[in-house]
Amino acid sequence: MNIHNDIKKILISNEQIEARCKELGEILNKDYDNKNPVLLSLLRGSIPFVATLSKYLTIPVEFDYMRASSYRGTASTGNVAISLMPATNLLNRHVIIVEDIIDTGSTLSTVSQVIEDLHPASLEIITLLDKPYMRKVKNLIPKYVGFTVPNEFVVGFGLDYDEAYRQLPYVGVLKEEIYKK
Ligand code: IMP
Ligand code: MG
Repeated sequence: MNIHNDIKKILISNEQIEARCKELGEILNKDYDNKNPVLLSLLRGSIPFVATLSKYLTIPVEFDYMRASSYRGTASTGNVAISLMPATNLLNRHVIIVEDIIDTGSTLSTVSQVIEDLHPASLEIITLLDKPYMRKVKNLIPKYVGFTVPNEFVVGFGLDYDEAYRQLPYVGVLKEEIYKK
C-alpha cells in the first residue's frame, strides 16, 4: 500500500508550494509589520500550509486554531458547525484566518462572521488553494491566495479524501477508481 499510487496527476509540486509560501511570507512580513498578528488556522486541513508559510515569517506572530465542519452532503444549505473556538482573546487583534481551500465559501463565510463578532482590529483570509467556480458566497474574496486550482477534487498538503492523503507533500488529483471503492 503506497498512497502515491492513488494519484492520477500532480497539480502543484512541493517545490512550487514552498516557493509560493516564501512569496506569501514576504508579503505578510510587509503587511503585518508591527502588528503581531494571530494566524488562526482551521483544523484539520491547514496545518501543512501554516507550518510551511510560517517558516518565512520574520515578524512576530501567534498561532491559534479553530475547527468548522461543513455538512457537504447538504452543501446547498451551507450548514457549517463550529466545533472548536480559538483560545486567544481576539479583541483588537490582527487576525489572519489560514485555510487549505475555499470552494463554495460557506465555511469561511460562517467562520469570518463568528470572528468579526469578537471585534478583531482586522480580519483577512489566506488560503493555499482557491476554487472560485462554485462560489455561493459572492463577496467572499480571500486577500491572499496561494494557487487557483481547476474545479476538481484535490488532495494532499492537508487536503483529504475521507481523512486520507493529507500527508502528501504535493497537491494532486485522485484516480477515478479510488472514489468508486
Ligand atoms: P466551502 O465551504 O465549500 O468553501 O468548502 C471548504 C471546505 O471543503 C474546505 O475546508 C475543505 O475541507 C473542503 N473541500 C472543498 N474542496 C475540496 C477539495 O477539492 N479537496 C478536499 N477538500 C475540499
Ligand atoms: Mg477544511
